[in-house]
Amino acid sequence: MELLFYKDAYLKSCHATITYAQDGIIRLDKTIFYPTGGGQPGDRGWIETETGDRVEIIEARKGENHEDIILVLKENVPLPAVGSSITAELDWEYRYGHMKIHSCLHLLCASVVGDVTGGQISANKGRLDFNLPDTQIDKESLEASINRLIAEDHPITQDWISDQELDTNPTLVRTMSVKPPRGSGKIRLVRIGETVDLQPCGGTHVKSTGEIGPVRIGKIENKGKQNRRINLTFAD
Ligand SMILES: [Zn+2]
Repeated sequence: MELLFYKDAYLKSCHATITYAQDGIIRLDKTIFYPTGGGQPGDRGWIETETGDRVEIIEARKGENHEDIILVLKENVPLPAVGSSITAELDWEYRYGHMKIHSCLHLLCASVVGDVTGGQISANKGRLDFNLPDTQIDKESLEASINRLIAEDHPITQDWISDQELDTNPTLVRTMSVKPPRGSGKIRLVRIGETVDLQPCGGTHVKSTGEIGPVRIGKIENKGKQNRRINLTFAD
C-alpha cells in the first residue's frame, strides 16, 4: 500500500483502487488516510464510487503491518466492490487540526528539558507528559517561547535516513530530542528550522511553524511521581 501522506501531508484527495472489502472495512492500493497511533486519532473522510455513491470513513487504523492501513466504514452501508476505482477525500479540517497540534508538540518538546513519556493529540488541543522530577515550570515563559518559535515561522522538513547513515553520523543522534528506534531499516527524521528540533517521527506536520497560529498553555498537571503533563490549545 502506498502511503501518500508521508510524501505530502497536504493531499486532501486521491484516486485509488479498492483491494479489500469485508466486514465493514476496506483497503486501498494507496491512501491519504493517516491511521490512529502515537496518540493521534486516525483520519476520517469519504470515498466516492464511480457511480457517485458516497461512503463515510469513520476511522483509519493500522492493519497487519506499518504499511497496511484499514478504513472503517460507517455502519450498515453496502461495501464497494474489490477492484473498483474510487476517489478518497479527507475530512481536511479535522486532519489539519492534528497537523498543527502535532507540529506544536514538537515545539513544546524542544522547549522543555526532560524526557517525553506520553502524549495525546486532538484537532484543537494536545498534551505531552514529561519525566520531570521536582521541576517547576514557568507557564508564562514557556508559552512565550513556543509562541515566539511559531511567529518566527521556521520551515518543517523531513528526511529519510538508514540505520547505517545514522551510525556514521553520531552527532545527528546527539542533536535529536528523541532517540530513533533501531533495526527498522529506514528512519524518518523531522527537522524544524536549523536547530529548533530534530527527531524521528512518522506523523503529519505543517510546512512551517507560522501555520500553527498562537497557542496557549493550559493546565500543567502532576501525574505521578515523575510525570508532568503539559496541556496546550489554540489561543483563538
Ligand atoms: Zn512529528
